[in-house]
Order: sequence, then structure tokens, then C-alpha cells
Amino acid sequence: MWLRPDAITVWRHPEVRERLAWYRAVMLNQKPAKFRICKRVGTDERPNDVAQLSDEELWHLHGRLAGEFRRVWKEIREGTLSLEELGQPSTSFLHVKALLAERMLRACRFCVRRCGANRTAGEVGFCGLGCEARVSSWFHHFGEEGPLLGGSGHPVGGSGTIFFTSCNLRCVFCQNYDISFRPKNGVVVDARKLAAIEAELRRTGAANINFVGGEPTPNLHVILASMEHLDVNVPMLWNSNMLCSEEAMELLVDVIDIWLPDFKFGNNDCAERLTAGGIDYVSTVLANHKLALEHGDMIIRHLVMPNHVDCCTKPVLDMIARELGAGRVLVNIMGQYRPEHFVARWPEKWPDIARRPTAREMREAFEHARQLGLVFEPIS
Ligand code: SF4
Repeated sequence: MWLRPDAITVWRHPEVRERLAWYRAVMLNQKPAKFRICKRVGTDERPNDVAQLSDEELWHLHGRLAGEFRRVWKEIREGTLSLEELGQPSTSFLHVKALLAERMLRACRFCVRRCGANRTAGEVGFCGLGCEARVSSWFHHFGEEGPLLGGSGHPVGGSGTIFFTSCNLRCVFCQNYDISFRPKNGVVVDARKLAAIEAELRRTGAANINFVGGEPTPNLHVILASMEHLDVNVPMLWNSNMLCSEEAMELLVDVIDIWLPDFKFGNNDCAERLTAGGIDYVSTVLANHKLALEHGDMIIRHLVMPNHVDCCTKPVLDMIARELGAGRVLVNIMGQYRPEHFVARWPEKWPDIARRPTAREMREAFEHARQLGLVFEPIS
């Protein structure tokens, strides 16, 4: 097996241990994953009765249970309560979430595009997906950030990565275009099949379940439902472009243990020119990063693009430091940009990004992060 020594050494950094404390405790089975707590919080109303509630009533119930969940999670974090002390509700908070996601599929608003496709009636959305979730591959990924591979007492088993097809952002330089631009690639997975994949990955040593793509957000209904069938303890990781809608974030924040979000563009003009466009990229992504950080651990990924250090890299790092707090979040400043997909085919259309970033551009990015006090070196 290819050894990644940084999976061991990264945990020696006090900032990494402190900022990823919850994730690490779940990875080591010292604490239950949040989705398991969501199974133990709920209502005594029977599932059939809950299923009769209107959408408004169901969201109201979700709001009430979210308050209860957050109280319980705090006590579990502080060690004053254990999962075993909680009862088994007739209808769990997790089931309420899965039910809401299923209903949202009738006029889909999983992401900020809110295209309203009735995916249960055979319509496909902007993302190209109907009601089925499709997975192109799943495996133990050893190329992710050091803390995501295990270590710290857990075997270095890699990140249990599940690649969903399709994407709702569609960058012109996409390095995963074979799955993000081709939603029909891969195999259909239902909730039980997905849970079986997740369980197998954990049982064979994965440190976490890493939902990625393409983009996981359009598959939210199957992902939430899979957790209802999952019987192993494992941290849930959301590896996303963060174009989730407010409602999707409400469903996600209580089940995701660690976030691995992208923050690519420092202004909406670059986002508009280098993706499918049509969204308020900066406000959406920033708001979702803030919300995610309130509810879990986080490593933010920023891909340095050539000629975009001043307009994207520096403003992104500034926003992270100013809006999220340099002392609260880890950042991975990534240098692996290469022109792919549309940019590789028609470089004359995007000449600014038709090459790799230079060593000087990378140095400038690192230096800026250093000046802001961002913690990136142990994981970059
Ligand atoms: S997830 Fe897909 S179908 Fe749903 S709102 Fe976004 S683009 Fe539309």
C-alpha cells in the first residue's frame, strides 16, 4: 500500500487536532457520528402519521427536532451524555429529514438554481438528474488531505470516497468532466445499495465517507435515506461546491461531521465566465461556508488558478479570514490546477487559464495566507 506519512504527522499539529476535534473523535469511534444521534432524536408520532403532515408542518417538526438535536449533540460533545442513554423514537429526526428531501424532489430546490424540476415525475433538472442517484465509482482515496486518510490511532485506510455523477456548477476547466458533465455515467444506487457501499468502505478501514462528484447535492435524497440504513459508525464528509440551497443546508448541517468545501472564485464575474453561470456565486458559497462551520469541522479547498491570484485567490483568502475567522478554519491552498475539458480543447477562448500556475503565483498565494494568519501548511 502507498504510504502517506503526513496522515500520521499531521495530527501532531495542535491546530489540526483542535479544529478537527469532533471529526477525529468520530473517526476513532470515541463519539457517535451525527447521523446516529439524529436516529435517536425524534417524535413519538408514528411514521405513517408524520407522512400525512403538510410540507409546512413537516418543516415545523424539523425545526423543533433540530433544537432538541443540538442540545443533545452539545451534551455528547461535552461528555455528559452518551448515545446509549437516548431512547428509540417512533419517528427519528433523520427520517423527517429524508422525508423532506423526498418531497423537495417534486419541485427540486436542492441547490441555489432552484430549477423546480419535478424529478419524481421523470423531469430532469439543470444538473441532468431525474429521481435516481448515480455513482461512477467508490474507493479508498489516498490523495485527499492528510487528516482525511486516518492516522492518530486509526489505520491509514484512506478516505471512503463516493463519486456521484453530474454537477450544478460546471467549471470550464473541470478535471472530473467525465462524470460531472455526463450525468448518465455510472450506476444507479438506491438508499440500501448506497448504505451497503458506505458500510463496506468503513469496515475495510476508511476514515470517513466522502460524498463528492461531480457534486453530491443533487443526490441529497438518496444520501440522507442511505444513513437510515447504515449501521456502522463513521464520520460523514461533504465534499462540495457549496451551491446548496438554504433548505438543503438545513437538512445537511445535522448529519455532516466534517465539511470539505471548495471556495474557487473571489468575485462573481470570474465565476460567471468560468462556469455555467447564472448564480450569485460569492454570496451563496460564503453564506454556506459560515453555516457549515457553525455546525461542524471544516477544511476549505482553494484551487489557485493562473492569472487569478489578485482577482480570486487573495479575495477568497481575505473572505475566509474576515468572515469565517483565521483562527477557526483550516485551508488547503491547492496547486494542482491544469487546463482540462473545454479549456484544453479551446485554449484561445480562455487564454488566462490555459496553463498551470507558476511557482511565483503559488508563493504569492501562500504568502498572502501567511499574512492573514490562516493555517494551511500542515495540510497543503
Ligand atoms: S439539484 Fe438539480 S434539479 Fe435540483 S435544483 Fe439543483 S440543478 Fe435543479
